[in-house]
Amino acid sequence: SKLQYFFVIVLIKIFYKYMFCEGPGFSILSLSLALFITVKFPAVRTYIDPHTYEDPNQAIHEFAKEIDVSCITIERVIGAGEFGEVCSGLLRLPGKREIPVAIKTLKAGYTEKQRRDFLGEASIMGQFEHPNIIHLKGVITKSKPVMIITEYMENGSLDTFLKKNDGQFTVIQLVGMLRGIASGMRYLSEMGYVHRDLAARNILVNSNLVCKVSDFGLSRVLEDDPEAAYTTRGGKIPIRWTAPEAIAYRKFTSASDVWSYGIVMWEVMSYGERPYWEMSNQDVIKAVEENYRLPGPMDCPTALYHLMMDCWQKDRNSRPKFEEIVSLLDKLIRNPSSLKGLVNSSNR
Ligand code: AMP
Repeated sequence: SKLQYFFVIVLIKIFYKYMFCEGPGFSILSLSLALFITVKFPAVRTYIDPHTYEDPNQAIHEFAKEIDVSCITIERVIGAGEFGEVCSGLLRLPGKREIPVAIKTLKAGYTEKQRRDFLGEASIMGQFEHPNIIHLKGVITKSKPVMIITEYMENGSLDTFLKKNDGQFTVIQLVGMLRGIASGMRYLSEMGYVHRDLAARNILVNSNLVCKVSDFGLSRVLEDDPEAAYTTRGGKIPIRWTAPEAIAYRKFTSASDVWSYGIVMWEVMSYGERPYWEMSNQDVIKAVEENYRLPGPMDCPTALYHLMMDCWQKDRNSRPKFEEIVSLLDKLIRNPSSLKGLVNSSNR
């Protein structure tokens, strides 16, 4: 906050004043400055699993603001979630201007576990604040139906959006979308949050083509995803998007999210094509194990295909970090001629 910055500036000024002095004044000041900065500005703010709260209602009110139902106007149904309808509407908070929002509802007749899982997503989303992560406005838990209110993303989910606009964007626009997703993922990985279901269907797009990561949850996300299939070990996993070590022994990490990110790159550059087309899940697992990788999409810049292939390295420690992906994409955007070389069309 502004007040914290003010304090830091005052402390730095005092620090400078005493810097060239010897004696206790200097050490006490430098110590207190170090302490203040460490406490007030921790380098990494980490994600807290709502499950660590004995009372899930405490978690939700820790991370999400309760909105009064009178502030919400529902307009129309825009989608279907596992727990109920997703609607668009308006939110008018006291003293603020009206803004468009998405409203997820929990349909009547739910169990206590369903309510907890439904609100679990808000407890997670409420901990994030980033331009490429879907923003939680608040929750309505004091009246029925229970609702989760988020920012409204005019262009809906990325996979459908790309299929509807096949071939309509410049390479720079596509790379801009990918840059946004990578930046959101860098933030999540810094927070220690592993997404596990990163796919174009779980990215939302607004009217400015800004892409934001959505669909947060615990077990819920995968149970809710029609792409997720049960493995022989009983886990439910979206095979085509998942790193081999996560499929084989559930080793989900930010490095397995990087693998999924490579698949999202492929989906974006091929305008929403289904990864591995009509191959069965079993064939995908076998092919990837035998080192088969998706070919470069039509007209895809070689530099981007190389990056995808890097994300699909068998050894998870050899994959790039989200930080490196963001820097590379920034470099490519700054130097558009680096995107001129396209993958060989005989590759397809
Ligand atoms: P979900 O249950 O989160 O997968 O949402 C189901 C569908 O509702 C999505 O595929 C989107 O088409 C739509 N949707 C969800 N959240 C939003 C949002 N914030 N803005 C616009 N559409 C959304």
